Amino acid sequence: MSVLTLQHLSKKYGRIQALQDVSFEVPEGCVFGILGPNGSGKTTLLGIIMNVLQPSGGDFSFFNEPASAALRKKIGTLLETPNFYAYLSAVDNLKIAAAIKGVPESDIDRVLELVALTERKDSKFSTYSLGMKQRLAIASCLLGDPTVLVFDEPTNGLDPVGIAEIRNLIIQLYKQGKTIIMASHLLDEVEKVCTHVAILQRGKLLASGNVDEILVNEDIVEVASTNLDALAELLKDYPELVRMVPQSQFLELYFTTGMVSMESLNQFCFSKGIVLQHLRLRKKSLETKFFELTQNK
Ligand code: ATP
Repeated sequence: MSVLTLQHLSKKYGRIQALQDVSFEVPEGCVFGILGPNGSGKTTLLGIIMNVLQPSGGDFSFFNEPASAALRKKIGTLLETPNFYAYLSAVDNLKIAAAIKGVPESDIDRVLELVALTERKDSKFSTYSLGMKQRLAIASCLLGDPTVLVFDEPTNGLDPVGIAEIRNLIIQLYKQGKTIIMASHLLDEVEKVCTHVAILQRGKLLASGNVDEILVNEDIVEVASTNLDALAELLKDYPELVRMVPQSQFLELYFTTGMVSMESLNQFCFSKGIVLQHLRLRKKSLETKFFELTQNK
């Protein structure tokens, strides 16, 4: 079941093409990262699906249904940090949020527990750390128990501890069966939590799908010996090698996934008189893939 479907979505701000013919699907029960450098169109995309902005072309739907008030209730949004009242406690701020959303106050304890703020629920908002403020914002978003959560840069401005707290919270929500759609430019963070990604550059979709499928189409093997030039010469025609990229301390060998055996490679070098001092199979990082995709355009 698809939670969100985008079909040929475009957005122009005057002459600026912020989104161009973007289509992808967000499956149910995933953490979907919308990735891209500054200005790639992430916020515009989230603004459109949250009905804050009108697309210039194309269409989108949640749960393959026409937009309705009932459907809206299934979606919790955190596009920018909400304006909480500094001198009110977390609970009192959430009472206001619950009243605006038409959600019973009885839901407040549940969401505070989820974001681990129960102990500090009576403290004034002004005494909260940035990380706690962000968790309270997420708590507000969770009022009414929406099944889909849309976050724009949820870890923006947080320190590593705050980032890890939000990451754990997202993983916890995912394990409860929620679908989380989040925009981010922090690639390593996204890699730690997202099951799916869409990669945008200058408003165009470069790739989308399951993270493992996007990343695991190549295995990278690092090899080194005392004479890297001799090793490069020996391996340049090695079976199934897609390409070789020399680095200062080792050679990077790219193979189609599953096409290389470490043992055979080691044996081959040894049989030709080269002893390897380094041999490592590396999974391609989202960062590597991202730069490959964005540089080829
Ligand atoms: P960031 O990571 O910096 O938030 P982003 O990926 O979210 O960037 P958008 O904010 O969607 O990107 O911007 C996409 C493009 O549209 C950029 O070139 C931006 O300057 C432009 N843009 C965004 N909002 C407006 C606006 N209201 N008027 C004119 N241009 C805009």
